[in-house]
Amino acid sequence: MAAQEYVTLERTGDKMPLAGFGCWKIAPTDCEATIFNAIKTGYRLIDSAQIYGNEVEVGLGIKKAIAEGVVKREELFIVTKLWNTYHHKDHVRPAFDKQLEELGLDYVDLYLIHFPVPCEYTPIAEAYPPPGWLKNGADKFNYERSPIQDCWREIEKIAESGKARNIGISNFNVQTMLDMLTYCTIKPAVLQIEHHPYLQQKRLVDWVWKQGIQIMAYSSFGPISYLEMTGTAKDAAPLMEHDVIKSIAAKHNKTASQVLLRWSVQRNIVVIPKSLNQGRMEANLGVFGWSLDESDLKAIAGLDAGLRFNDTMEPAYGIDLPLFD
Ligand code: NAD
Repeated sequence: MAAQEYVTLERTGDKMPLAGFGCWKIAPTDCEATIFNAIKTGYRLIDSAQIYGNEVEVGLGIKKAIAEGVVKREELFIVTKLWNTYHHKDHVRPAFDKQLEELGLDYVDLYLIHFPVPCEYTPIAEAYPPPGWLKNGADKFNYERSPIQDCWREIEKIAESGKARNIGISNFNVQTMLDMLTYCTIKPAVLQIEHHPYLQQKRLVDWVWKQGIQIMAYSSFGPISYLEMTGTAKDAAPLMEHDVIKSIAAKHNKTASQVLLRWSVQRNIVVIPKSLNQGRMEANLGVFGWSLDESDLKAIAGLDAGLRFNDTMEPAYGIDLPLFD
């Protein structure tokens, strides 16, 4: 398998692997073994989050890999995210410290604000992992009066303490990022967004790069994760079975999933697929040492449909908040 490639983060010069492994929807009972296996298979970037409810097990998998000499801590790039319920300036640091404790780590490589959405606070002592979008027992979404500026300042302090080597954001749009650039002391290093051929967001991506911010793509395979979650994929054909993707895969003697991942990494966009299946786990790392050509890129560009699956509204989360409008 061709060697991993990297992008360099502006402030620290840290090298972020272009092919990583995501932790969403890994059941805690599978998670330690899965993370250990992913690291043994060659993954060095692990994308975790408070809301995935498996950070203890993610940490155990990492600890095992280090203990067994598979990898050294400094060779790993651990990403995690602050959940929406902890945006208030008094709640950011305790929430982060709880994550470090659960992960069993001294520091993370990248700490992201998961969504630009301050949800009503629920104390850690009352519920942890945190409730999702609705406070326990609530029937509708309520925001907390907590500006992103206050939250970001606390995140900057975590970076200044060295406990998060790099800091960034996820699911932010240009308006919110532009505002951040007017007050931040430390610029976000990374923006994590939904990104696949059906949702290319070229203008957003180009603008973000011009600010010196790197892009990490989630849901690189498009509708598939949301189909299993909600039973609907907005009538979009599965990308892995799309004729355009399949014919490009056949031309290069690769799988459709490798074409979808290569499409991002070839443009220096990090990918973080997840699979518990050993063959797929290995295949998803096979995205270096070969290239899509101009005609492939043109054909894939033609698939853009502005189709977002990880929406706050129906069918994904059903919250009365059109976040991406
Ligand atoms: P994914 O890339 O994990 O793909 C979805 C599904 O595709 C998987 O569940 C798996 O069953 C299947 N799959 C994986 N590899 C395959 C292969 N080679 N062949 C066939 N099927 C395969 O999608 P995702 O979970 O939406 O996103 C990946 C990661 O991104 C998550 O684990 C999480 O870490 C992150 N994420 C972040 C956000 C956010 O709001 N920041 C949102 C969603 C996901």
